[in-house]
Amino acid sequence: MVAPDHSPAIMGVMMLTEQLSAARLQTVRAQLEDHNIDALCISVGADLPYLIGYEAMPLERLTMLVVDQTNKPTLFIPTLEVPRVETMDGVFDVVGWDETIDPIGLVGRRIGDGRRVAMGDTTWARFVIDLLKLRPELELHRSAGIMTPLRAVKSSAEIEALRTAAEAADRVIGQLQNGEVGLVGRTEAQVSDELGHRLLAEGHQVVNFAIVASGPNSASPHHHAGSRVIEPGDVVLCDIGGTFDGYCSDITRCVFAGEPSAEVEEVYAVLYQAQRAAVAIGHEGASCQDVDRAARSIIAEAGYGDQFVHRTGHGIGMEAHEDPYMVEGNADKLVAGHAFSVEPGIYLPGRFGLRLEDIVVAGVDAPDQLNQSDHDMLVVTA
Ligand code: ZN
Ligand code: ZN
Ligand code: ZN
Repeated sequence: MVAPDHSPAIMGVMMLTEQLSAARLQTVRAQLEDHNIDALCISVGADLPYLIGYEAMPLERLTMLVVDQTNKPTLFIPTLEVPRVETMDGVFDVVGWDETIDPIGLVGRRIGDGRRVAMGDTTWARFVIDLLKLRPELELHRSAGIMTPLRAVKSSAEIEALRTAAEAADRVIGQLQNGEVGLVGRTEAQVSDELGHRLLAEGHQVVNFAIVASGPNSASPHHHAGSRVIEPGDVVLCDIGGTFDGYCSDITRCVFAGEPSAEVEEVYAVLYQAQRAAVAIGHEGASCQDVDRAARSIIAEAGYGDQFVHRTGHGIGMEAHEDPYMVEGNADKLVAGHAFSVEPGIYLPGRFGLRLEDIVVAGVDAPDQLNQSDHDMLVVTA
């Protein structure tokens, strides 16, 4: 039931009108012109449902949408999967290919005289390699240059979809913080499974991850919930997220299965300050690395700089992790509508770790923090 972090997730239900699809494809064409790209080829992953509402099956038979300046966008798809497509006749053509046809040949011909091709970032290498064998003169680019500016800035409808997902995840965290989820005496895997079921009960269609890391395991940022039995006094780090009507949730809270030590309290106070500071600057005018620096400087000043071993955050939308990334070296400016996580952590190997995470949407002059769950250290006797 509960998939590990970063597994490919089904996108879930997503309402995309013909009008919205046409508008997004029109923006793509403008991007193609700006980047001097002749054709965009999109296969598996989130770009395809973002553009036409259809998610390709991640299988050995090629599904690929080709968009260029002059022709109607064309979706090449195995004939047996054509019935899965919700057609939009005014927006794109559907071409089914039969089992004895070479689909790479179809795509190669469709690209025509084009030479500069933007290839979907998550396209299987075998299709890219076969296309290059067929058309060695092609100059391939990543699709991110075309697609990231579109997908990273969320529309108001997308922000509300993210808020709905965040509120559902908040309800599960509320149940955890209220002591409705048993902790002591249960394994991490059992608690993870329960949190996953609660995400579904609150409206998610897919559980993308439910990290439960207890005691010393909490010092491993991407710990896989396992057989360790939670003991009184443990830190229990819970990082959960799923997909709700096509958009993702992602939240981390630490609860304490008994009174925390003075040291845990001290480290949590530092983490809390760092996370609050990074959320607070999540608006236009700041850069992505400024968000990271806001958290990191506070943690470093308290002497835990070496124990904060990952970036401060990642973009979120149809994918749990997507552009933009809140990391040193990313000087890109935040724009109103950028949605991202703010999740600093402090990890003391072999002892304990703490992380605090919210999803934030940048506004013009203030952050819109989607998660409203209690940020305090809460002792849960369950
Ligand atoms: Zn992660
Ligand atoms: Zn998370
Ligand atoms: Zn995250």
